[in-house]
Amino acid sequence: MFEELDDYRKKVRDFGLSEFTEDLIDRYDKTEEYPDDIRLKALKSGLIDMSNPAKILISIEELCRIDAGLGIAATIPYFGGEVIMLYGNEKQKRILNDVYSGKYILGLGVTEPSGGSDVAGLKTTAKKIGDKYVINGSKMFISNGGIADYIVLLARTSDEENKHHGLTTFLINTKSPGFEANKLHGKLGVRATNTAELKFNNLEVSVDDVIGEVGQGFYYIMTFFNISRIYVAAQALGIARGALDKILEFVKNNNIKDEYTMFKVSDVSTRIEASRQLTYNAASYLFKFDPKPALTSMAKVYAGETAVYASELAMEITKNDHKTQRFFRNAKIMEIWEGTSEIEKLIISRQILKGGN
Ligand SMILES: Cc1cc2nc3c(=O)[nH]c(=O)nc-3n(C[C@H](O)[C@H](O)[C@H](O)COP(=O)(O)OP(=O)(O)OC[C@H]3O[C@@H](n4cnc5c(N)ncnc54)[C@H](O)[C@@H]3O)c2cc1C
Repeated sequence: MFEELDDYRKKVRDFGLSEFTEDLIDRYDKTEEYPDDIRLKALKSGLIDMSNPAKILISIEELCRIDAGLGIAATIPYFGGEVIMLYGNEKQKRILNDVYSGKYILGLGVTEPSGGSDVAGLKTTAKKIGDKYVINGSKMFISNGGIADYIVLLARTSDEENKHHGLTTFLINTKSPGFEANKLHGKLGVRATNTAELKFNNLEVSVDDVIGEVGQGFYYIMTFFNISRIYVAAQALGIARGALDKILEFVKNNNIKDEYTMFKVSDVSTRIEASRQLTYNAASYLFKFDPKPALTSMAKVYAGETAVYASELAMEITKNDHKTQRFFRNAKIMEIWEGTSEIEKLIISRQILKGGN
């Protein structure tokens, strides 16, 4: 499936090499602005075909290989779209089409100031009053939060004893009264992406803005994570490969041949190959509509740890070159978003103990 896309991979790589100049990467890393022109250029160049997830995976990997700040900024405006695609009504799907065509930007609001790992423990409420829901609460670290036109929001609609049952997904228009977004500054990495804290103060939505069924939101988000974690694994694989590119360039240019460095090159190349196999294997099941949660979490946790390892090594071998430092800063989030490494490891062990994969 993926080998057939080698020409496409080359096209993405060529786009990244010509558009992601060192000046541009540096500028957005320093200013923390969102590169909207890059988003639109990538879309117009045919690199964001949301009807073809294998191509999206390749775009993410190849763009992050050059720079994860710009690479993720170009590929994240559609974040949360699968929730609408799988469970949304016709009106919501029309909005999704406008997201995919570049007219709108989407975000996904799950994490709250009190924590992100315990999704079922979230506190934002949506109270039903007549044919409306009134939303109150806040979300933290929301990608695209300050630039999104719409947010897929997870909120509590009832206080059921089983806290997983009381959550519902909504599609929120960010122009609604009662919506507030405050951009976060000074992130460690992926600084070209827009991250915000969101506040909802008596924000009203209609019953038609519920995505899917009331009370099913927790399960929809878990299904979504089984998709998005594979994309994170591809981001991490790209960063690890980019760090290895920097190592190889330095080793060759400086004619380094000592055994320590050779062992490290061998070790990081092996880990990258293992990350690639896990990521593409997990993706091939997902694309056959047969996702494997343990395999997906293995890919995400292993590729994430490999991105951090490869970029640490790149700093060591290239003697702390500032470009390799940026790879390290961008790598760290791979172990955090869409489930920290600890959460992924819990998912893997639970699945394996159940006899699943
Ligand atoms: C740049 C950025 C962008 C993000 N974008 C989004 C977004 O678009 N939408 C969104 O909803 N969220 C987003 N997030 C939030 C991200 O998903 C959370 O940061 C992540 O899920 C972890 O949640 P937390 O930071 O609240 O840490 P916590 O959940 O508070 O965890 C803190 C620590 O405790 C550990 N821990 C927690 N529970 C357990 C457990 N049961 N067993 C063992 N260890 C545990 C964790 O592994 C972690 O090390 C983003 C975060 C960042 C930094």
